[in-house]
Amino acid sequence: MIRLLLLALTGYVSYKVLQRVLPWFWRPQIQPRGPQPEVQADELVQDPVCKVFIPRRNALVARREGQDFFFCSEGCRKKFLQKS
Ligand SMILES: [Zn+2]
Repeated sequence: MIRLLLLALTGYVSYKVLQRVLPWFWRPQIQPRGPQPEVQADELVQDPVCKVFIPRRNALVARREGQDFFFCSEGCRKKFLQKS
């Protein structure tokens, strides 16, 4: 009878241990959150001043009336902001 109890206890303990250890193995690999996807960063935007297309990540941004405008250079950005 004691043997059975010991067996049950051992079983219970190993069950508890497994319960603690297994989630560590099962934990999904957490993908590091890198920068924005390349596709989005390379999206072309048009400069409203000189009408040239530039990759979004290289563009200068000005926000007006809740809308983002993109510029090829600081000069274009200034021109745009002065016009308004
Ligand atoms: Zn420009």
